[in-house]
Amino acid sequence: MGLLGVAIPSRYDIIIDMRLVKEHDEILRRRLKPFDFEDPVMDPHELVAGMQAIRKEFGGVGLAANQVGIDARVIVIGMGSFESEGTEEFETAYFNPVVKSIMQGEIKMIEGCLSFPDLFIEIKRKQNLVMSWQDADQKQWGERFGGMVSRILQHELDHLDGVVFTQRAQHHALDKARKNRKLTQRRRKRLDRAI
Ligand SMILES: [Zn+2]
Repeated sequence: MGLLGVAIPSRYDIIIDMRLVKEHDEILRRRLKPFDFEDPVMDPHELVAGMQAIRKEFGGVGLAANQVGIDARVIVIGMGSFESEGTEEFETAYFNPVVKSIMQGEIKMIEGCLSFPDLFIEIKRKQNLVMSWQDADQKQWGERFGGMVSRILQHELDHLDGVVFTQRAQHHALDKARKNRKLTQRRRKRLDRAI
């Protein structure tokens, strides 16, 4: 299977060609540069539109800019019911996020990553997170996050530092996830042959 691209007509009638970067790409291991509003890699609103489109196309809840091949500290997230005609409760973008504090206990949760298809790993992360960031209009924000949003943000913040979720996993959890991925992919091949 080739990589899927999404063409987004922009306000300036430029077609943005973004592709989802897969697990062995070097850019996923790179610490990303701050998004420079004075000299932007691309229009911040177009970047958000493109990243959100890719995230939704692949059914994810979060995406970092290096996952679409862009070296800038930008995260998009979106959550809600994917089943109900793509309606979502909310979607947000975070430019140049800075973690102010990260706290309270450790919670185990199963995570996936759009750059690692079919790999679902149990990972321990902190419960709460206080973060400041800029929006696409360079306005400054700050908030305390818990629950799913805190979990998604911690995963995406790692991406901005060139850290992928397999590096956060304990050995046995990663082994188990890799075995399950093989089973899933084998099962899918059998199904493809059966159709
Ligand atoms: Zn990821």
